[in-house]
Amino acid sequence: MKRQVYLDYSATTPVKDEVLQAMLPYFTQNFGNPSSLYTIGQESKQALEEARELVAALIGASPREIFFTSSGTEADNWAVIEAAESRAKKGRHIITTKIEHHALLHSCEYLEKRGFAVTYLDTDGEGFVDPALLERSLTDETTLVSIMFVNNEIGTIQPIEALARIAKERGALFHTDAVQAPGNVPIDVRALGVDLLSVSAHKIYGPKGVGALYIRKGVSLPNHIHGGGQENKKRAGTENLTGIIGFGKAAELSARDLDAHIERLTKLRNYFLERIRENIPDIRVNGSLARRLPGNLNITFQYIEGEALLLLLDLDGIAVSTGSACSSASLTPSHVLTALGVPVEMIHGSLRFTVGDFTTKDDIDYTVDCLVKNVEKLRNISSVSKEKGWLKNGNAV
Ligand SMILES: *Cc1c(COP(=O)(O)O)cnc(C)c1O
Repeated sequence: MKRQVYLDYSATTPVKDEVLQAMLPYFTQNFGNPSSLYTIGQESKQALEEARELVAALIGASPREIFFTSSGTEADNWAVIEAAESRAKKGRHIITTKIEHHALLHSCEYLEKRGFAVTYLDTDGEGFVDPALLERSLTDETTLVSIMFVNNEIGTIQPIEALARIAKERGALFHTDAVQAPGNVPIDVRALGVDLLSVSAHKIYGPKGVGALYIRKGVSLPNHIHGGGQENKKRAGTENLTGIIGFGKAAELSARDLDAHIERLTKLRNYFLERIRENIPDIRVNGSLARRLPGNLNITFQYIEGEALLLLLDLDGIAVSTGSACSSASLTPSHVLTALGVPVEMIHGSLRFTVGDFTTKDDIDYTVDCLVKNVEKLRNISSVSKEKGWLKNGNAV
């Protein structure tokens, strides 16, 4: 069988066996609806509440502040759209950044169509938001600030505590998209001082299709999905019971293994970078190496097309991405690398590698061998192409 190496843990993660085992009984024997009053319904309800406690513990919240959703995307939409619309009388200005996930950016664009003004903050060349810039951008009309905790493309970890403090001082609510954070950075919502925070199960070795929104006690946020009385009457729809139970287990494991996970992935990532630097000339790391997601490497291989390299690596059984998973099928340059000021031809030669719990040193060695071979192949073609003027459309291959 062809060798398979998965290096796209920021796109999604495999469900861990312990997570799957926790979920299985709830598909069959324990299938009761948590809203039903008879025994198997109440057993489901109890399992649901145990999962809520585990997700709450992961981020230092109280279980009553956790509301399960269908995804990180739904949590982001709920937080941003409902917070802005319900406070429109006070002001119609919100602040976010140029490097957010599309779940956030497209929610903001929706709000712009509804008459809201949105400020998209610039970052520095490493992808960090300057707290002083946020301070200058706040006005009396600003009701909400939303800044992501960990960037999904370049892995930069923002100074959320400082940013949230500045927003709160001016009376604005603070939301953070923390989907990439659990298991990779410690999260304590009280220490961070955030009002709203989004997470998702499938980025932490849980199942797809389940997320959660933390709503700090005392913060009023209208419902986004309307119907039955589930989730303390805040989010309607029969709960994704198996998904939520898997989320709870994944949260428990993430919290338990946090330090070991960070240490192991940081070492593996650094080894990977070292091997690339030793073997491939003309590369550049995008983002900061200091405050970065432990498993993330975003690299520009100069003079080649990232898509072409991605496809050659795929033939070798290696899964990586160009920018974020959502934009990898399009040729528009990554909005994140654009915001960092990376020149457009360099953006086209960029790949994102994310290592995770099942990545081995051997996987890295194999990947570096394949990178050396494929980068050389593409650079040879590309120099030929340049000579013959085939590069006019910017398509090297
Ligand atoms: C994956 C991701 C999302 C979307 O979460 P889903 O559960 O896939 O909808 C939002 N924000 C960030 C930063 C992500 O990485």
